[in-house]
Amino acid sequence: MSYVWGRLLISALVATVYFYELCAAEAPNYSFMHEATEAPKISYFDYIVIGGGAAGIPLATTLSSKYSVLLLERGGSPYGNHNITMLSNIGSYFLDTSPSSPTQRFVSEGVVNSRARALGGGTCINAGFYSRGEPKFNKEARLMDESLVRESYEWTEKVMVFMPIVTKWQSVLQAALVEAGVTPDNGQTYDHLIGTKVSGTIFDPNGTRHTAADLLQYANPTGLSILVHATAHKILFKIKGRLRPLAYGVVFEDSQGNKHRAYLKGGERDEIILSAGALGSPQLLMFSGIGPKEQLDAHKIKVVLQQPFVGKGMADNPQNSIFIPSPIAVEPSTIHIVGITRFGSYLEDTGGFNFIFANHSAYQGFSPQEPEDLRKCVDGIRTIFKTFKTKAYSNYKYANMTVKDILDLNMNLQGYLPIKGNNSSLLEKYCKSSVRTMWHYHGGCQIGKVVDHEYKVFGVDALRVIDISTVLNAPGTNPQASVLMLGRYMGVTILNQRIASDKAH
Ligand SMILES: Cc1cc2nc3c(=O)[nH]c(=O)nc-3n(C[C@H](O)[C@H](O)[C@H](O)COP(=O)(O)OP(=O)(O)OC[C@H]3O[C@@H](n4cnc5c(N)ncnc54)[C@H](O)[C@@H]3O)c2cc1C
Repeated sequence: MSYVWGRLLISALVATVYFYELCAAEAPNYSFMHEATEAPKISYFDYIVIGGGAAGIPLATTLSSKYSVLLLERGGSPYGNHNITMLSNIGSYFLDTSPSSPTQRFVSEGVVNSRARALGGGTCINAGFYSRGEPKFNKEARLMDESLVRESYEWTEKVMVFMPIVTKWQSVLQAALVEAGVTPDNGQTYDHLIGTKVSGTIFDPNGTRHTAADLLQYANPTGLSILVHATAHKILFKIKGRLRPLAYGVVFEDSQGNKHRAYLKGGERDEIILSAGALGSPQLLMFSGIGPKEQLDAHKIKVVLQQPFVGKGMADNPQNSIFIPSPIAVEPSTIHIVGITRFGSYLEDTGGFNFIFANHSAYQGFSPQEPEDLRKCVDGIRTIFKTFKTKAYSNYKYANMTVKDILDLNMNLQGYLPIKGNNSSLLEKYCKSSVRTMWHYHGGCQIGKVVDHEYKVFGVDALRVIDISTVLNAPGTNPQASVLMLGRYMGVTILNQRIASDKAH
């Protein structure tokens, strides 16, 4: 992975004042959601969507309004899982390293990272900040119908996005960004505008997370079948007697290791759509025989189509954090404010989380290298939520700190001497050594390289990829809004084209 943008995440340490009324989301009665163990050995659908994440859910939900759709998700339901649904448990899922965890840890270029494994995908484990992408993204992604882009955003926002109750700390940050020249102050808006703004969150005012799975309330219960704990292993292709391979089925495994097959019914416009995310979609193409020949040969995978660009062009956005110790209580908050600079860096902030409970390397927030440090981090967060109840906690050690003291503390945390004068090479070193993921990894099935402008995989029939693996640059300040929109936009587009074609016949 390479890194593309500079980014600064400022975190305030320590504090008290505000307590969220916490309650877990009730499991809705989705009659169309089942464990994969209950699935028949063989089944038939008009569409098979692989991956129930930020893109896959709005896509499958939309297609189900007229056609039969199977959605396969390797993880479980988010409902009833308090680690996912409650804000006060944010990050605790990173501690669960079992095969049924909603997160799966991986390391890329030495940077510790995580990918989602739950119905709702990244929306189950992310920080919840919601901000629409920039118009440039729509052009790159070939989403040319502006009113459909807007409607698709609104469709999601109605169900799962809230304007945050801006905490004191966050409003101080807002004022500071404006004072520092990140102008204008754009107030509250989901739109991507240069300047400082308050944007959305998928946590409601009670501290309950609303994942993409909430969009399933739009689904047609007779059109949609969802299987959870259903891991797709391979897409099947018909090759004999054809000019191009035709995708016609998927082999998937349930939680007991039993294999099942789902096939397309055979309609002219039936399709398999991959929405397994930046790591899952290129991986599944390769498992199915589409990818760079030398890599497929190395893993003894039969080549269906040589495609040198599968798995290429992957990138993440770098995060560098500065920790500001507070002598007084700061209420806990996830990201509410973003500063969108003219030079392409974004400034975001979480407040009140007390990483000082953990040791040195835990200052890297949710991405410390060692699992033990991560545990301390999560314990620290839980403690701060608890202490907010009693309003008992504050840390007087940090009273009277100057800006220079704060910078020195951060340099020391990375093992450097305090800043002397304007030492840019030391700062550069600091940024390199403290770089962490922003969890916005993307690419691997890029538009123009692996998929065409309609997200159809080049060189084969009846197969698309629709998710963050297709993008050239991570959209907006944070990508989930654009990925959710992409899922809905492409669902409506595919649906309308098929309805028009059915009418014409
Ligand atoms: C820790 C973290 C914090 C983040 N914070 C934010 C934030 O605050 N704001 C923001 O805008 N964005 C944030 N993001 C990014 C955002 O969540 C992702 O960009 C977005 O979810 C990507 O959507 P997707 O549909 O492409 O993939 P995902 O949402 O990851 O969905 C892919 C789904 O496919 C499933 N899958 C994979 N392989 C298979 C298979 N073989 N068979 C069946 N299912 C499979 C996975 O289990 C997963 O559920 C964060 C991400 C992470 C990981």
